[in-house]
Amino acid sequence: MNTLVAASVLSADFSRLGEEITALAASDIIHLDLMDGHYVPNLSFGYPLVECVRKLTDKPLDAHLMVTNPDAYIDALAKIGVQWISFHQETVYHPHRLIQQIKAHGIKAGLALNPGTPVESISALLPDLDFVLVMSVNPGYSAQSFIPSAIDKIKTLNALRKDVNPSLLIEVDGGISASNSELLISAGADILVSASYIFKSANYTQAINSLKGI
Ligand code: MG
Repeated sequence: MNTLVAASVLSADFSRLGEEITALAASDIIHLDLMDGHYVPNLSFGYPLVECVRKLTDKPLDAHLMVTNPDAYIDALAKIGVQWISFHQETVYHPHRLIQQIKAHGIKAGLALNPGTPVESISALLPDLDFVLVMSVNPGYSAQSFIPSAIDKIKTLNALRKDVNPSLLIEVDGGISASNSELLISAGADILVSASYIFKSANYTQAINSLKGI
């Protein structure tokens, strides 16, 4: 499939949110980093901002839950109208149940893998997942440096999915720029999440296209 770019609004200027979302016309997905100040040290935003973004674009919304109780967020995010939800396995006792809860809303379900979490720890869940979000930084902040071990994880997932779930998508998040995107795509990544690389650029369309190698 063609590589997709998910633009994370975490690095957007919220005082000009309408203009910022409009300028993301070349992106395929809008990525929403929900942080609760407990699972990760940072606080980002909650439902009111997600609702605003929903009003500003028809693109699919991708909610990345960096929270200790992701199960409590699903119904509200479904009501707002997100299309993708990922959570971190470490935050729940029953990840399989939560995946089913997300999919019951017709939402794509993903598991986020921290840099310290091996692919093998989610192998039993791969057949049920729509996507895996490989974290190439520790979750919590934008503009962090890329952790190269993510590339081997993508290669491992790319090999595993052929047998257990060929429709599984691989999304990567953290420290992605035009200098490493080609490596990630050739390893098997389908979706590249980008925040600061896009929002610090002078031309968002050019930045998004450069991630895709266009
Ligand atoms: Mg994210």
